Amino acid sequence: MSTNKSRREFVLGLGAITATGLIGFPSIALGASKKVVIVGGGTAGATAARYLRMADPGIEVTVIEANKDYYTCYLSNEVLSGVRKLESLKHGYSGLNREGIKVVHDVVTGIDAKAQKVKTKGGASFSYDRCIVAPGIDFKWNTIKGYDAVTAEKIPHAWKAGSQTTTLRKQLVAMKNGGTVIIAAPPNPFRCPPGPPERVSQIAHYLKNVKPKSKIILLDPKKKFSKYKLFIQGWEKFYGFGTANSLIEHVKSDGVVKVNAKGMTVKTASGNTIKGDVINIIPAQMSGKVGVIAGLTNKKGWCPIDLKTFESTLHKNIHIIGDASIATGMPKSAYAANSQAKVCASAVADMLNGRKPGIPSYVNTCYSIIAEDWGISVAAVYRLAEDGSKITKVSGGLTPMDASIEYHRREVENAYSWLNNITADAFGG
Ligand SMILES: Cc1cc2nc3c(=O)[nH]c(=O)nc-3n(C[C@H](O)[C@H](O)[C@H](O)COP(=O)(O)OP(=O)(O)OC[C@H]3O[C@@H](n4cnc5c(N)ncnc54)[C@H](O)[C@@H]3O)c2cc1C
Repeated sequence: MSTNKSRREFVLGLGAITATGLIGFPSIALGASKKVVIVGGGTAGATAARYLRMADPGIEVTVIEANKDYYTCYLSNEVLSGVRKLESLKHGYSGLNREGIKVVHDVVTGIDAKAQKVKTKGGASFSYDRCIVAPGIDFKWNTIKGYDAVTAEKIPHAWKAGSQTTTLRKQLVAMKNGGTVIIAAPPNPFRCPPGPPERVSQIAHYLKNVKPKSKIILLDPKKKFSKYKLFIQGWEKFYGFGTANSLIEHVKSDGVVKVNAKGMTVKTASGNTIKGDVINIIPAQMSGKVGVIAGLTNKKGWCPIDLKTFESTLHKNIHIIGDASIATGMPKSAYAANSQAKVCASAVADMLNGRKPGIPSYVNTCYSIIAEDWGISVAAVYRLAEDGSKITKVSGGLTPMDASIEYHRREVENAYSWLNNITADAFGG
């Protein structure tokens, strides 16, 4: 009999004991050892770690995270406009440590699903009863000719906040008044659907004030983007969109297929070649590489899951949350990642204690700041469809098109308070 089986039997037995008076006792008091290893301590992984400990303080939680500090992508477009410093988005792991969560800084190089072990670059091995994988995204480098990880150091994607965010900001500052900024949006699905138009807005905000003769060209393989009408309304109001003097040009259904880093040009699918002074390429995306290495991804590079528990449909006892997962019906956002982490933590605690996970609901709100004191948002509450096949929106809404100036100002305030709340929720105090 395997250790896991006997443990499962033990916790199933515990279910019966609980009914007779041990409700609320952490499992450690009963001598059970339950190990959860979390791969990736970003928004999803860190939230899951904290909520697992809250659900059952007897679970031994280890987070393996590549970096000592985490920089949120959310609000990082404000670093590009100079509205905030990158340091304001930095979070360490002492909050998790204080709550009894072990944080190891190392890179996970493999997950042995059969032996239930996680292996790291540093040579360590961590055994688990359940593993939660939250590696975020990686890029499909082979989709744009001439654009790879090396080129990305010169022509940044800045789609993972950190050094590339700083590089892109420096390039914008060095650019002449009258320069052209090219922003290439990715195909679906990708991290943060409103992120590219928000980036356009923030860069336009900077250029309008400091280099007003300049221009931004958004090249998008898609026809539309998230919060489309609200963005267009904001661009018309602040950046002359649709007029001869527009700071922004939006090229629909024509993505970048080739980059010439030396000549600073891009070629689009329709055959146009455009020269830029600053070029920002946001490539096609897939699950963080470890998802592929561990055999957790489908042909498209994302991780299929059971939407109720976030358990992989390819490997038992491994759950995937956040951007890497196929959470059908939800966008790839930090708030979605945070919400999924809570659902998953609760399900994992239930499963480790022999309980049946309940029917979850999930939430998402996403703010975008178009100009000073002009914010917009989209919000949704979701439930699992009865047949478990998708996550269905049950209520929600957008900033009204006729919202007042005061309403838009409050959306910016809400965005900043959301940032404080979600980072405190994920990384602890
Ligand atoms: C410009 C921009 C703006 C955005 N704005 C918003 C917004 O306003 N609102 C919103 O809700 N969302 C926003 N997002 C999206 C949000 O940032 C992501 O959806 C969110 O970070 C996903 O969380 P995650 O935990 O899945 O991935 P991440 O936060 O990327 O965390 C993944 C972690 O895993 C670690 N990792 C990966 N592989 C390994 C490995 N092999 N070993 C060890 N560690 C590993 C990484 O170092 C990282 O810390 C924005 C994104 C961008 C790019």
